[in-house]
Amino acid sequence: MVSGLPAFVNRLTSVKIPLDRPLCYNLSMNKDLEVILAQTAGFCPGVKKAIDRVLELAQSGKHPIHTLGPLIHNTQVIEMLEQKGIHAVDSIDEVRGKSGVLVIRAHGITPEAEREVRGLGLEVVDSTCPLVKNVHSVISKHASQGYDTVIVGDKGHAEVVGLLGYAGQRAFVVAGPDEAQKLPELDKVVIVAQTTQEEDVFLKTAAVVQGRARQAIIANTICKPTRDRQRETMELAGRVDLMIIVGAKHSANTARLTALCQRLCPNTIHVETEEELDAAVIRTARRIGITAGASTPGWMTERVLARIKEMRKKEAVSALNALERLLELMVDSCAYTGLSAVSLTYVCMKLQGCRIDDRLLVLAGLFVFSLHIINRVAEKGVGAAETRKVELFEKHRLPLTVTAFVSGLMSLGLSLFLQVRIFVVVFSCWLLGALYPFRFLYGRTGLIDFPGSRDIATALGWGAVCAYLPGLHQGIVFTKANYLAVLFAILLVFSRSVMLGITAVHSDLIVGRENFYKALGSRRTYATLASIQVLLIAILGALLAMGWKSRLVGALLIGNLMFVGGVAFGRSQHTPKGFWAEAAVDGQFVILAFFAWLSGRF
Ligand code: SF4
Repeated sequence: MVSGLPAFVNRLTSVKIPLDRPLCYNLSMNKDLEVILAQTAGFCPGVKKAIDRVLELAQSGKHPIHTLGPLIHNTQVIEMLEQKGIHAVDSIDEVRGKSGVLVIRAHGITPEAEREVRGLGLEVVDSTCPLVKNVHSVISKHASQGYDTVIVGDKGHAEVVGLLGYAGQRAFVVAGPDEAQKLPELDKVVIVAQTTQEEDVFLKTAAVVQGRARQAIIANTICKPTRDRQRETMELAGRVDLMIIVGAKHSANTARLTALCQRLCPNTIHVETEEELDAAVIRTARRIGITAGASTPGWMTERVLARIKEMRKKEAVSALNALERLLELMVDSCAYTGLSAVSLTYVCMKLQGCRIDDRLLVLAGLFVFSLHIINRVAEKGVGAAETRKVELFEKHRLPLTVTAFVSGLMSLGLSLFLQVRIFVVVFSCWLLGALYPFRFLYGRTGLIDFPGSRDIATALGWGAVCAYLPGLHQGIVFTKANYLAVLFAILLVFSRSVMLGITAVHSDLIVGRENFYKALGSRRTYATLASIQVLLIAILGALLAMGWKSRLVGALLIGNLMFVGGVAFGRSQHTPKGFWAEAAVDGQFVILAFFAWLSGRF
């Protein structure tokens, strides 16, 4: 029974929503508005894989890293990659005579160009999407049998340039049926599509080409992710009164999505960032559909979503609205995370039977608040899914940094005031936490370079301050209750950190293998999370059966089961991201503290 549970929870957490049921964000602040986000919006698998690959290279210490052309059409992501030592070059000549790694991006290149780059003496990493490689083999197989090639796509697009390199003597690129009419008479021809081509255009064009050839083979090489995206977009555009396409203006596949939508929904707008949204247009819409191109990071779409929500919220001023804004401010400024640490410390004190000491509660809150801000500032807050958070950290970097250091100093001062040995623990943990994002070890590596290190370090830090310190302060370390509290805190905080890491990956944030989910992959991460929850429930259940602090343990068990149920339900609907993910995941500690407090009242 117990061994089957991880698989069961894994199934729950892996629910895939069918394409005919797009994900809905009903903005509760305004019942007149429904916003539907396409589940296919954002990075396609080919682009995602290429970005992951370069990040892995950067993390393994390889440098400099050059990409032959920008990996994606997004200025902010390109800047973030630059900060990690990943530079885009426009031509092979730019890397001639240089050292380091050269990455071939998902679009692929011609065989001649590949031979040339492999002869440069650089380490070459081929990140050509396998689905593009499939088109290469279709073209070269038929070219070797004497077929001409017709590519339905955009002349000059990097992928099309690469495809042409695999064709034989005669190859043509046509954008649509009109251009196909102008082709010369053909003998044997293979007709392929650029992988992001619109299906309708491809089929019509292929029919025209077929009519001009003695023998034609039609290979519909539009990739499945593109077809799924187009199918879902068309379905969505047909049932909304405003359609928003998010993506770079010069991205071919985003432009194609826009054209597709305009035919079904005349009120279609294409925006690159949330800044381009027109409040007047947003305020009159009742049903808004949102999708994004294959090279648009998920967090960009979420920023657009957040801005829409903000624009509509201004219409309705209510107590609930004000409460949500307060919660947003607390989450964005890490004050909410500090409150979670206070709550967890309270629970751990109760578990150990300690006297509730306000000074230790404040110490834990200041410590966690300080380190979370320092780490966010060190990472420059870029790539955060929430516009507000980015703005907050960009606009108030200095005051936030000062606040973080003052909070850190206050927690150190408080610990010194309590006991010297408490100061030693707090100082060691704080120093390690503050240095975590920096690479200062041999070979310019740091703690951040160890797989899953962020989640493990966070769990150990919180475990030490929230659970170990109260025991140390009251002279009950190395007792069963102290071990239990430390284990309880570490497991809960590790789960929290991993869950937030998962939402970061799902938002296409630039995260590396310090993220447990990124380092171990989906299956192992969900299995680990499920196992932790099973272990927690088993421990609490066993303690309850033994009659140990039954009211407190029973209350924690109920709180924990409620959280697990909430996560499973949330996953079956949609993976919450950004603000809501943090509010929900950190909220578990506040709920557990409330239950623990309640258990002492009855
Ligand atoms: S659009 Fe399709 S073929 Fe192109 S990189 Fe993405 S998944 Fe691969």
